[in-house]
Amino acid sequence: MKVVLRNYVTGMVKESDLEVVAAEAVELKVPEGSKNAVVLKNLYLSCDPYMRSRMSKHEDASYNSDFVPTEVITGFGVSKVVDSTHANFEVGDLVWGTTGWEEYSLITEPQVLFKINHPDLPLSYYTGILGMPGFTAFVGFHEIALAKEGEYVFVSAAAGAVGQLVGQFAKLLGCYVVGSAGSDEKVELLKNKFGFDDAFNYKKEPDLTLALKRCFPEGIDIYFENVGGAMLEAVLNNMRLHGRIAACGMISQYNLLELEGIRNIVQIIPKRIRMEGFVIGDHFAKYRKFEEIAAQHIKEGNITYMEDIAEGLENAPSALIGLFEGKNVGKQVVVVSRQ
Ligand code: NAP
Repeated sequence: MKVVLRNYVTGMVKESDLEVVAAEAVELKVPEGSKNAVVLKNLYLSCDPYMRSRMSKHEDASYNSDFVPTEVITGFGVSKVVDSTHANFEVGDLVWGTTGWEEYSLITEPQVLFKINHPDLPLSYYTGILGMPGFTAFVGFHEIALAKEGEYVFVSAAAGAVGQLVGQFAKLLGCYVVGSAGSDEKVELLKNKFGFDDAFNYKKEPDLTLALKRCFPEGIDIYFENVGGAMLEAVLNNMRLHGRIAACGMISQYNLLELEGIRNIVQIIPKRIRMEGFVIGDHFAKYRKFEEIAAQHIKEGNITYMEDIAEGLENAPSALIGLFEGKNVGKQVVVVSRQ
């Protein structure tokens, strides 16, 4: 079984844009003469918002390659090495990195593939807290936003893979942190499970600027940006002098045919705001240090982590598309095989 893109997508993505089809029989061996290659048995797949961009055709260069219709889609996942001609990987190794949305994948010259150093922790965590989203939360909060103890921090899409961790890193540093999310259930989790100081359901707020004023009477020092659009405008109205915006994602824009403008962007000048976009792929050289920090936090019980698990490749399309409808509560994972 494998998941393929039916055709390039314009506008709102639908489950029917993806198809689960029978996969060709694969030999579980690296082909003769193929160097630096691994055959992976895929265990857990990561559903990530950036995959939406790969479903559209880009005439100009995008930082991620476009998927090819009718071919298997790729993304981050956790896998077991079943054959290898790569010096860094041996048969039986557990790894995370780029793989196919199928049961077995042949990966030649892997660009992103890490051996898992903490196989005692739940392996699926390497699609989230111990993998790309966790590292994104950490780098964005500490290195891009340059957060300091006591600062006022706002996180949007706060109950998702990245957001739940940004909020907890902020609490560990001694910040005041507020999150927004799209359901009352998620708001409850933010306040009562993830330890946010406050949270609100952005879908129920008639005026986002006023909602943020209520939560931050003294203004926001750091905005961890996950959604863009109207929320970014409301945040700019509430930023403090010398505030920082770590522009991680803008999911509200990913399915639009025409992107929204930010009408009050001029405010970054008098408020001396620094807004910086970042792409986590640029930081992977530092991943190992993060893996140790995150593993220690998990083992010491300093961080709570929540996953939303879909069972089986047949449920992978709905799991991925659900991200754009806010269906996931926590990190969205697809289980292909548990061992
Ligand atoms: P996630 O938060 O686990 O899932 C996406 C969430 O976004 C949904 O659950 C939904 O939550 C919210 N959402 C969906 N459509 C929305 C809309 N139109 N307006 C507002 N909110 C919407 O995803 P994630 O993996 O943690 O990613 C969060 C953000 O980080 C994304 O923008 C992603 O692209 C970005 N990211 C960037 C990097 C990087 O390298 N820069 C790396 C990883 C992730 P609600 O129910 O709360 O609406």
